[in-house]
Amino acid sequence: MSRGLRWGLIGASTIASEHMIGAMRANGGEVVAVLSSDKARGEAYAGKHNIGRATTALADLVESSDIDAVYISTTNELHREQLMAAAAAGRHVLCEKPLALNLADARAMVAAASANGVVMATNHHLRNAATHRAMRAAIASGRIGRPLFARVFHAVYLPPHLQGWRITAPGAGGGVILDITVHDADTLRFVLGDEPVSVCAMTMKGVMGVAGLEDGVMGVVRFQGGVLAQFHDAFTTRYATTGFEVHGEEGSLIGTDCMTQQAKGEVVLRNASGVAALPLTHENLYQRSVRLFQDAVAGEGTPAATGTDGVRSLAMALATVEAARSGHEVAIAPEA
Ligand code: NDP
Repeated sequence: MSRGLRWGLIGASTIASEHMIGAMRANGGEVVAVLSSDKARGEAYAGKHNIGRATTALADLVESSDIDAVYISTTNELHREQLMAAAAAGRHVLCEKPLALNLADARAMVAAASANGVVMATNHHLRNAATHRAMRAAIASGRIGRPLFARVFHAVYLPPHLQGWRITAPGAGGGVILDITVHDADTLRFVLGDEPVSVCAMTMKGVMGVAGLEDGVMGVVRFQGGVLAQFHDAFTTRYATTGFEVHGEEGSLIGTDCMTQQAKGEVVLRNASGVAALPLTHENLYQRSVRLFQDAVAGEGTPAATGTDGVRSLAMALATVEAARSGHEVAIAPEA
């Protein structure tokens, strides 16, 4: 197993406190410092999570010689500048999704990581789920024949402690599409092993979102290989279940309770032989993300989702925003 990394947190965030700090430590990593825009909040956060120090200066954090890698989990409009500074300082970067608010910025981030010779990953946690990995393997080995359709059920309820910038701040990259559809994009690409080419969508607004931000979306995306995938994402449904299905000529894969941050869910294969559960070995999604990242830093393999994966998922999300705005089918930027 690769060596645990010495981490700097860029952002005193909820996702770091609820999932990522634990995942870093579970992999033998050390959380050395945290960057916050607010001195008192940063110090309180460091104290609460036993982090060595807090700073408000990005340069201090990324240039610290006792840090190997940074994890960026600030609001989305800040990711680009922070990643550029970290890459320029030679720090490996695990960055939250969406990478940025537009494709030019996201592409520039991947280019900067490459130019500086650092590992860059996007924290698309759902690729790490045993459910999605089992579905990908089943499709790749032909168990459902030619895939025809996929359906993603990812309508959830945004818990009260997260009802902030996601529903109030367009400038921070709020809205359900950049928050949740971007994960659907990555999971569809991963499970199908295919690239999306165009999308249609309609949004709902005003149930929870303000400032014109969408809080629900339904859409259909067409893949290069011909698959049509339907997705339903929301912040506003308290009682819906999640799921991910792929229907092929020879069988259907039905994943339930799997569009989640938890290591849970199940997948059944329905075909001419009946219904059979796929064997799954669940693993903490975020621990696997950190493990593959630090392996990549050690020169072993690639992260679960690379920077390029982050660009491609953003391309589908941005095309979804435009499709809903225009009422037209929108092409998804190729070579994203
Ligand atoms: P938070 O709102 O918890 O944190 C974002 C920023 O808000 C922080 O960097 C912090 O700024 C500021 N902040 C946090 N708490 C407070 C507070 N009490 N008062 C004032 N400001 C505060 O966001 P999330 O953790 O939900 O999301 C952060 C990023 O992670 C986003 O890019 C999001 O898309 C992504 N994410 C990814 C998930 C995944 O599973 N891959 C899941 C959830 C989020 P400062 O650092 O300056 O103190």
